[in-house]
This record gives sequence, structure tokens and C-alpha cells, in this order.
Amino acid sequence: MRILISGASISGPVLAYWLTRYGFEVTVVERAPALRKTGGHAVDLFRPAMEISEKMGVLPRIEALATGTDTGTIYREGTQRPVRVDITKAVGAISDRHVEIMRDDLSEAYYDAGRDHVEYLFGDSITAISRDVEVTFEHAAPRRFDVVIGADGLHSNVRRLVFGDDAGRTQFLGGYLAVMSVPKTLAHDGEMISHIGAGRLAAIYTAQPLDDARVVFLFRTEKELEYHYRDALRQQELLRAAFAGMHPQVDGWLGELDRTPAFYFDSITQLQLDTWSRGRVTLVGDAGYCPAPAVGGSTSLSVLGAYVLAGELAQAGGDHERAFASYERKMGEPVRRSRALARGVAKSLVPRSRAGVWALTRGAQLISLLPAGLTKAVARLNTKGVRLYDSMPVPDYTRADV
Ligand SMILES: Cc1cc2nc3c(=O)[nH]c(=O)nc-3n(C[C@H](O)[C@H](O)[C@H](O)COP(=O)(O)OP(=O)(O)OC[C@H]3O[C@@H](n4cnc5c(N)ncnc54)[C@H](O)[C@@H]3O)c2cc1C
Repeated sequence: MRILISGASISGPVLAYWLTRYGFEVTVVERAPALRKTGGHAVDLFRPAMEISEKMGVLPRIEALATGTDTGTIYREGTQRPVRVDITKAVGAISDRHVEIMRDDLSEAYYDAGRDHVEYLFGDSITAISRDVEVTFEHAAPRRFDVVIGADGLHSNVRRLVFGDDAGRTQFLGGYLAVMSVPKTLAHDGEMISHIGAGRLAAIYTAQPLDDARVVFLFRTEKELEYHYRDALRQQELLRAAFAGMHPQVDGWLGELDRTPAFYFDSITQLQLDTWSRGRVTLVGDAGYCPAPAVGGSTSLSVLGAYVLAGELAQAGGDHERAFASYERKMGEPVRRSRALARGVAKSLVPRSRAGVWALTRGAQLISLLPAGLTKAVARLNTKGVRLYDSMPVPDYTRADV
């Protein structure tokens, strides 16, 4: 059975790895000319994704590439004295098994795990998918597949081609996100420095495996902003306006906008498709169920979704109808809960008011001061919220009864 996957970031390579393990023939088409190695950002792997990475044999490599950001220094806008936060303890409260890694390092680890058994077509993109899964590409000759899977991110090409009006079912969560690369000398290994004010947050971090540092900006707006998604100059103008006068250090970061080699800007948007499959086509990861970038554990959800989809196709002996239905059933609950969590995090991560900023920094400080056992015990009481990702089950597809 021949399967085409669009996208080679996180969910694409994980899916390709498992599908080839189960004996399927897999081609992955990726728009970028090679595996992405610039830009990107730190992502979180929680318990389910850690377990799946372990099954793939890549966990030691992932752990060796962890960012190691364990201290936070927070400046509240308008105040001089920083608040120190123990990030390890704060994350420990929400997950027993977690690692933070740069997305591009993670992508490479997953890609290397399966590359010898997968056909990768870099620098190409699907242009059309017919009802009987005849696929045309920008460059490669047309080919027929049995199943096509969109693993091509929040702005998925496959979703746009196949899902008609439903492709755009999104909810704006009231904010924007930007990331840019800056010289490594502006940051310190192991420490994240943040400035938080009402409606805006700017932070810098670097990591031992990185040659540069990354600045992340999050800001609130009541209405969606007007800009073209390819117009980086307009996006940078909006960013400068949103962070004007926050702090001299933030001004220094914004000064790097003119020379940054990598800049990303997007709205914090949640995908709201109820179903991810149409005929012989389905979606995985951010393409199908992005809870919203940077405010939910969407990387862990993507890894879990890719693993479940491959397992269901194998269990169903390639019967795509049965497999897709079962995949959607198994991922439905984790996706719904992730969406709810992301909506809450989007509200609390960038507070609206000065009082909210105070409460956020005070809460982070308190977690740092309390013994780790106590913060974990309190967090465990809340299985619907912060410990959601750790509570997601990972099916064992080596057993006949899953
Ligand atoms: C700024 C930012 C910060 C984030 N922070 C976090 C975090 O802290 N924690 C966390 O868990 N997650 C975070 N995320 C989310 C995380 O990056 C995603 O959940 C994860 O990368 C999803 O993986 P994916 O493979 O499904 O999609 P993506 O990583 O988006 O990859 C999609 C792939 O498809 C390719 N593609 C796109 N169009 C086409 C096309 N037409 N043809 C072929 N290929 C195509 C792209 O080049 C890319 O390689 C963040 C995201 C952003 C943007």
C-alpha cells in the first residue's frame, strides 16, 4: 500500500517511521529544499511523546539535545527588581516526564530514525489530489497513491486542497506570536529572561546546541490585525508598535529586526475541524488539530497523533475507512481537551492587567519556592488542566486487543 505524506517536520517523520515499520510504502513531500535547520523554536515533549520517542529508539539523542533552560528571570513592566523562577520545578509540576528541545533538532532526530526506509521529495509540493488519489506536484511527475496524509502544519496545503470551506475553521485566541533569531551574545545558556506587561510579553533564551539566541514576543489584541502573511516588513512594524517603550532591553531586541536571519509572525489561532478525514485523505498534527502555537502542547499531540494514525492503519490492515474512524475516535478526546487548555493558557500567559501580571509572576515565584513534591501534589489534583498531556494514554499496537 502506497502512502503519501505532505510535510517533514514533526508529525510527518514520526508517521513515516511507524508506517514503514508496519510494512507500508511511504513517500514524504516537503516544500522546503532540505530539512529545516534555521529559525524554529523550543518545543515541549511530555510523557506520551517521550514514550513514543523511546519506542523509536531516539530518546537518548533527544535528551542529549535538550535546551537545558532551567532558570527564569522575569521583569514586570514598570518595576526594577527581577523575580527569579525555577523553571525545572514549574515544569515538574505539570509533567513527570518532559524535555524541551529545539523543533529542528527534534525533526532531524525523527527524520534520521526512518530515512533509510522512506522516500523523501524535498523542494516540492502537492498541487492537486483527485478523488481517486491521483496526485500532481509542482515538480515531480503525477503519481497515484492509496492514501494521502497532510502533516503540513497549521496552514496545511492538503487541508486547503481537500477540505473546502472547512479548511478555514479557526478561532482567533486574541493574540499574536513572533519569534526571531538574534546573536547568541544577547542571552545566557540555561536562562530565560522575560519582560511582562499588561497585554505583552517578550523573552529571550539560548541553549548549548544553538549558535544563536531566540526572542519570543506574545501580545494581545482585541481584533485581528491586518497584514499579508508574506509581508514581513508590515509584521515587524506591528511588532515594534506593540512593544514600544516596554524596556531598553526589549528595544535592543527590536533593534535586531533589521538584520535578523529568521523571523516568524503569526496569530495565535486554534483549528476547529470536527473531523480530519475526507475519503482517502486525512490530516495529522498541527494540520488537523493545532490547539494553537506556543500555548498548548501541540508538539506532543502531533507525535501522539502520528503514532496512533500509523497504528490504526496497521491494525486495520490498510482499510483506510476503518483506520481513519478509529484514529479520530482515539484522538478526539485528547484534541478537545488540548483545545480547552490552550484557550485558558492563551488568556493567562499574557495577562490583560497589571494585577494579572503581578499574580502571574507571584504564582511562578511561589512554585519556585515550594518543595517540588508539594507543587506536584497540588498539580496532580488538576487532571483536566495542567497535567493533561501526561494523562494521555499511548496505545500499545503490539497487542492484538487495542
Ligand atoms: C513560534 C512557535 C512556538 C511554539 N512553541 C511550542 C512550544 O513551546 N511547545 C510545543 O509543544 N509546541 C510549540 N509550538 C508548536 C509546534 O511547533 C508544532 O505543534 C509542531 O511543530 C507541529 O508539528 P507538525 O509536523 O504537525 O507541523 P509543522 O512543524 O508546522 O510542520 C509542517 C511541515 O510541513 C511543511 N509544509 C508546509 N507546507 C507544505 C507544502 N505545501 N508541501 C509540503 N510541505 C509543506 C513545512 O515546511 C513543515 O516542514 C510552537 C509553534 C510556533 C510556531
